Amino acid sequence: MDRVPDYESVGWAFESPRAHLNALIGGVTMVRNANRDEYFMGLAIHEAKKALERKEVPVGALIVKEGEIIARGFNGCMNYSDPTAHAEILTIRRACKTLNNNNLSNCTLYVTLEPCIMCLKAMSLAKINVFVFGAYDSDMGAVESTWNLVNEKVFNYDVVFRGGVKEKECSELLKDFFNKIRKEQKNEKEI
Ligand SMILES: [Zn+2]
Repeated sequence: MDRVPDYESVGWAFESPRAHLNALIGGVTMVRNANRDEYFMGLAIHEAKKALERKEVPVGALIVKEGEIIARGFNGCMNYSDPTAHAEILTIRRACKTLNNNNLSNCTLYVTLEPCIMCLKAMSLAKINVFVFGAYDSDMGAVESTWNLVNEKVFNYDVVFRGGVKEKECSELLKDFFNKIRKEQKNEKEI
């Protein structure tokens, strides 16, 4: 298992005006250790790149407990012929297997894309306390972009989140992927 380097002493910081605003609004968002989150998001991006190699939409995730990675995963909808095989779902399943427990309280989930409704609910069923995401999803984002569902109806316990960590890197992976698909489709039409 990977040990997180000694980032925890670096302290707390706001990464963006949006994060600052969320913190001011209070409630479910809190300020997290920026360097620690960036470190793990970097590893989630590494997972997203594995999805890319398999021609999947590049989204990667991992789950951390007490500074240790207990599960990793990436989107597998095409390869598994399963529309529910989002990175978060696969990673939650693996983390539960690792702990031999369906309760992931005191775990943090990192994912390169804002979770959808399905994944948000799956996180609440798994009792994930903290989640951190990278790119915002204007189509299916259930946290801030399209819906704002981090509330007592979805989570019946306190949950905190932070969005936009390594946002540029996460969203560029996705943009490049979809641009490539569009190009390929255009070329096919022209043939
Ligand atoms: Zn999802």
